[in-house]
Amino acid sequence: MKRIIYLDNAATTKIHLEVLEEMLPYLQENYGNPAAIYSLAGQSAKGVAKARDQVARLINARREEIYFTGGGSESDNWAIKAVAESFAHKGKHIITTKIEHHAVLHSCEYLEKRGFRVTYVDVDAEGFVSPEKIRESIRQDTILISVMAANNEIGTIQPIAEISRIAHEKGILFHVDGVQAVGHIPMDVEEMEIDLLSISAHKLHGPKGIGALYIRKNVKLSSFLHGGAQERHRRAGTHNVPAIVGFGKAAEMVGENMAEKMDKVTLLREYLIDRVLTEIPHVRLNGSREKRLPGNASFCFSFIEGESLLILLDQRGICGSGGSACTTGAVDPSHVLMAIGVPPEVAKGVVRLTLSEYTTKEEVDLTVEALKENLERLRNMSVEYEQYLKRMKK
Ligand SMILES: *Cc1c(COP(=O)(O)O)cnc(C)c1O
Repeated sequence: MKRIIYLDNAATTKIHLEVLEEMLPYLQENYGNPAAIYSLAGQSAKGVAKARDQVARLINARREEIYFTGGGSESDNWAIKAVAESFAHKGKHIITTKIEHHAVLHSCEYLEKRGFRVTYVDVDAEGFVSPEKIRESIRQDTILISVMAANNEIGTIQPIAEISRIAHEKGILFHVDGVQAVGHIPMDVEEMEIDLLSISAHKLHGPKGIGALYIRKNVKLSSFLHGGAQERHRRAGTHNVPAIVGFGKAAEMVGENMAEKMDKVTLLREYLIDRVLTEIPHVRLNGSREKRLPGNASFCFSFIEGESLLILLDQRGICGSGGSACTTGAVDPSHVLMAIGVPPEVAKGVVRLTLSEYTTKEEVDLTVEALKENLERLRNMSVEYEQYLKRMKK
């Protein structure tokens, strides 16, 4: 098999071997429905309870504040639509940002069609949301502020604690899409005063299709899925026990020595960014150099299409992304790059490389070499580049 250099950890991550091992018994002999009363079911119920504790511990929540969902998108949909529904009598205004994940943005657009008003706050050139701008957007009828902890495309980390203070001064609920942040940087719902936090297992070396919504104890939210009494009557459906168990184990593992892993991944990312910016001409780094997710490196290369470069990288087994797994195939430039002011003709050259604790220096070196060679190939075929060179000669 061809060697794979996996640099798309913002799209999904490799499941830890220990996570898989923890899940296997629940896909085989421990198949009982956790809601049943016989002891076989007790094994499943215990697995779910343990996972709930493991997830709660990772974000400093209480176990009864963790609600398992079908992933990050469901958690975002639930948080936003249920707050809208539950608090519509108080007001119909929501504040979010221009760079949220589509699970948040499209949920907001859905609500706009149903009589809600949404303010999409601008970000600066590095992708930071200004707490002051959030404050200025607050109205009498604002019921929710939703800001992501860290951006999936450009990696910028937001001042979450500051924004939550502003929300709570005005008695407004605060939702955080923590899908990119949880398990990668410290996230503490108490310290950051978060009311609702979306988490996804497959972004932190757990299985796909499982996640959680943290709901602060005193926040009364309507159910998202109606049916059985699972998840304290708030999210019906037989528990996906193997996935929940795997999520719990993954949450426990990412919490161990997080600071060390952050340092290691950050160091490698800085090495990658340094090499790209010094050895390759006509490139910009997207997002903030300092306050970014440890594993995120997002570049725009001029005179080429990011897609073409990604196809050539793939021929060498290197997996990168155009910025967001959800927009691949779309022709529109990324809404995040537009929001930070990247001109469309530069934005089309975006390549996002996201590292994990599995990434090695050798892999980064091979990737930089592949970038250099293939960029040269593509640029030599580019009419724009030819014109640029002619202009320079004059
Ligand atoms: C991946 C992602 C989601 C969606 O999570 P899924 O579990 O894939 O549904 C939501 N928000 C952000 C920021 C993400 O990166």
